[in-house]
Amino acid sequence: MSSATDTSGLRQRAVNGNGKSVAPSEEGKKTDQLLDSHTQYEFGGPWGVLAIMTGFPILMYYLWICLVFYDGQLVGPKSSDDVVPFLGRMWEHIRVDANPNWYAWKVYGGLIIYQLFLAWLVPGYMQEGLPVPSLGYKTLMYKCNALGCIYITWITAAVLHYTGIFRLTSIIDNFGHLMTVAMIVGFSVSFGMYFLTVATGNQIRMSGNFIYDVFMGACLNPRLGPIDLKMWLEVRIPWVLVFFMAVSGACKQYEELGYVTPNMAFMCLATWLYLNACIKGEECIPQTWDMFHEKWGFLVIFWNFAGVPFSYIYSVVYMSTHDPENYRFSTPTYVVLYTTLLTAYYVWDTSMSQKSRFKMYTQGITTYRKTFPQLPWGVVENPKYIQTAHGNKLLVDGWWAYSRKPNYVADWIMSLSWGLCQGLCSPIPYFYSVFFIAVLVHRVGRDFERCAIKYGKDWEKYCSIVPAKFIPGVF
Ligand code: NDP
Repeated sequence: MSSATDTSGLRQRAVNGNGKSVAPSEEGKKTDQLLDSHTQYEFGGPWGVLAIMTGFPILMYYLWICLVFYDGQLVGPKSSDDVVPFLGRMWEHIRVDANPNWYAWKVYGGLIIYQLFLAWLVPGYMQEGLPVPSLGYKTLMYKCNALGCIYITWITAAVLHYTGIFRLTSIIDNFGHLMTVAMIVGFSVSFGMYFLTVATGNQIRMSGNFIYDVFMGACLNPRLGPIDLKMWLEVRIPWVLVFFMAVSGACKQYEELGYVTPNMAFMCLATWLYLNACIKGEECIPQTWDMFHEKWGFLVIFWNFAGVPFSYIYSVVYMSTHDPENYRFSTPTYVVLYTTLLTAYYVWDTSMSQKSRFKMYTQGITTYRKTFPQLPWGVVENPKYIQTAHGNKLLVDGWWAYSRKPNYVADWIMSLSWGLCQGLCSPIPYFYSVFFIAVLVHRVGRDFERCAIKYGKDWEKYCSIVPAKFIPGVF
């Protein structure tokens, strides 16, 4: 077993690297095989995932109804006699204000088709992914053209808005209808992909339980021509919609008030930063857990089609339907809010970049894409790392010298700021940060468990060098 915290091996690999498969040691291959087989249920097993699959859509409807129709306050039946009438009132809102009407199908379906069309045609930066154990450590190529596609989408949206063909304000006005369509698409694609994958024999890591396998997914690398569907869906629908919702809210304020509040402008900036980070660093996405480990099942599909766009920007929905006097802050408060966002963004962007580029470097990739904005310290020069017996290297430098998840901490602070921008008007816009912390803590548990199996004693060594899971000295 070899371990080191110098960089010589890394440089050697970089010099010798042919940019192709970097196969691990024999021991590493055995653990990879173990990690690619189903050993235990996660998320509470079949019953747990069934509860998530039914509970989340209901929760999303409930929160939206409270936000829009009950002044942002969480409501419930007033007495035991009121339970049935209360459920009736809720259902009436869904039936009338969130039915999947033809207009919503045209808008949401149009976005999907347009994004697929652009992803297919627009030229892009070709990025090699990580070696895939289930493909004999072959690496897949990823066409990273989100940057071009999204800029074209922004121009298209501006033309549609100014010509009046499609007013951006109609996104917020049709939130409920669009949400239902998104949910239907999320469910249909999840089940459809499961059946397609099983029918073509491309499934991996299956438990044998139908509902659990639909939830976790059957295939690892779904592709449609040159499009990697999993990577496509990570960005092109959820974060595009989140950004357009913020812009929609801003347009609505401008039309109704004659100006855009600093709070709504904050959400435009925050969602633009997130979307822009995803597109400018798209070549770093293949190195994330969602891409190299998570399969394309309900968990990822539903969340990207419906969960992210329709539950992360409740503050925008609130602010575009309520009087700005409710959420007007003092100038110093705005300064703190904007500074918090920009600082968290800086840590998030550079920590993700440091790890992804380190991983690319270990694969022999030494020239990086330069898209706007490239922030200082996005690449750690001569990084310190641990050489594991598995063959992989673990970065213990840059932000990764202080925390094992600096990116999660920064990402969570951004999510909190998305709720803070409307103050204490409603608890519902804080749903994103509350839900996200649960996701991240659960994800950390799953990730560290996997890494402990994968790296054994080297993982213990890594944890002793970087003891903080999240914030040094705190947690
Ligand atoms: P990470 O980027 O932390 O990736 C985890 C993997 O990276 C580990 O499994 C391990 O894989 C490798 N790794 C961990 N530590 C090191 C190290 N020190 N050196 C080298 N490799 C290391 O997390 P995710 O991929 O989960 O998340 C990426 C981003 O996406 C995060 O910022 C997260 O907040 C964000 N995200 C956002 C969501 C949202 O809804 N807003 C949802 C989910 C994620 P291995 O060693 O096997 O290569």
